[in-house]
Amino acid sequence: MISSVILDSQTYHAIVQDALGALPPRISAELKDVAIVIEDEPPPGRQGILLGLYEGVPLTTWGREYSGKLTDKITLYRASIERVARTEEEIPHLVRETLWHEIAHYFGFDHAAIGQMERRWRNKRVKETKTIE
Ligand SMILES: [Zn+2]
Repeated sequence: MISSVILDSQTYHAIVQDALGALPPRISAELKDVAIVIEDEPPPGRQGILLGLYEGVPLTTWGREYSGKLTDKITLYRASIERVARTEEEIPHLVRETLWHEIAHYFGFDHAAIGQMERRWRNKRVKETKTIE
């Protein structure tokens, strides 16, 4: 077993900042009233390893503007991400994928659509890695 990879919270903030910076401008312009929070562990009682969670009212929901709701929240679970990561280099990729997954929920995409996007991101990531090696 590989010893787990642990990064400090400042590094996470930088990774999240990078991931947000990599979003297309028209996406980040729409990303209002969303708090991005990094927590250690997911709430108990969840099946599998939960890397992230979106809580809120998706943009596509009718009446969102009138709901007087609280700020939406995207939570990334540090310990889960570190458990899944095989190397330190993998953490920024996992953070980015998790963050984009939750942002996609905010935009109202379901898991079928998000799954398709994730396959594309992964293919791209594999290609990126190949050109580096
Ligand atoms: Zn999801």
